[in-house]
Amino acid sequence: MTAIEQSYAKQCDRCTAVFKATGQRCSAVALAGKRTCLRHGALSTGPKTPQGRQRCAQARTIHGLETTTMREERSLASARLAMLEHIGYVFGFMTGTRTRGRRPDRMGEVYPELQAIYQKLVIERTEHSA
Ligand SMILES: [Zn+2]
Repeated sequence: MTAIEQSYAKQCDRCTAVFKATGQRCSAVALAGKRTCLRHGALSTGPKTPQGRQRCAQARTIHGLETTTMREERSLASARLAMLEHIGYVFGFMTGTRTRGRRPDRMGEVYPELQAIYQKLVIERTEHSA
């Protein structure tokens, strides 16, 4: 291997595909801007027509061990937990440090009855303090 070939080999990304039969990773060079080689789908453009995109969205897609439904359930469960924690602190059931990090995006969708009680309480507090 010449010096030019060596430097070229170092710069190139390798295909990330894994052979099902052997479990070994493909050692071919990945296409520029892609993660796989020609043989492992780097030339695929994915669905292009609106109908094709729709079919792909409706398909039962599994990424890793997850399904869309499982992801949805987990998202709502973490939102419910965060809402219960928030209510716990507001009403004084819970003390100490709160869970770190940003709040789940879907907190507004869960426990509408609790949110109504919370809103009422906040309005009462502001009326008393004013
Ligand atoms: Zn490959």
